[in-house]
Amino acid sequence: MNSITENLSRIKAELPKQVTLVAVSKTKPNEAIEEAYSAGHREFGENKVQEIQNKVPALPEDIHWHFIGHLQRNKVKYIAPSVHLIHGVDSLRLAVEIHKRAEQNNRVLDVLLQVHIAEESTKFGFDFDELYSLIESKELETLTGINIRGLMGMATFTEDSSQVRREFQKLKRGFDKIKTSFSNCDTLSMGMSNDYKIAIEEGSTMVRIGTDIFGGRA
Ligand SMILES: *Cc1c(COP(=O)(O)O)cnc(C)c1O
Repeated sequence: MNSITENLSRIKAELPKQVTLVAVSKTKPNEAIEEAYSAGHREFGENKVQEIQNKVPALPEDIHWHFIGHLQRNKVKYIAPSVHLIHGVDSLRLAVEIHKRAEQNNRVLDVLLQVHIAEESTKFGFDFDELYSLIESKELETLTGINIRGLMGMATFTEDSSQVRREFQKLKRGFDKIKTSFSNCDTLSMGMSNDYKIAIEEGSTMVRIGTDIFGGRA
């Protein structure tokens, strides 16, 4: 198997320069993150609040921590001081809580709104109709503690690449549509180990890759 450093440099060489690579380090030990850090990597993704809380104090301060999992409102306070970008905002109530905790920390937190694009019913996120009516309601604009940077979505886990492509195209169209509503909207987080090449072809600006960098998870 290739080393983490080799995997990172191979993947980075494939990415267009406007695409940010988030190395998804969930379940992986600090040593794995340190290896990627030594190779110059700074963007890491985690999906559990407890795990990110353990890792943050043990690892270099200039790491950008991306929270990519489903975030419960009662746990926002734990990540608000340290998180760089929250990818999975999927309700107005969660956005309100992030706004509140950001203000308590004298921060403005960058967030992405998560949209449900996959066929599976288990994946979190807004439907497009919900998203557009939330934006039209202007309620998000009152939340000065959050800065809406764009959208995040996960495609169906399937071998059918044309389906994956259609789902990413849908998300890109949604992104183009909402962009005009937010002045700092520049991030489209889509693509994981098995589908990031398609995601990039369809306009992704941020890919979240775990397995292809760190190997499989137990
Ligand atoms: C785990 C995870 C990833 C990375 O998945 P890989 O298949 O290991 O690349 C990306 N995004 C989210 C939201 C995840 O939970």
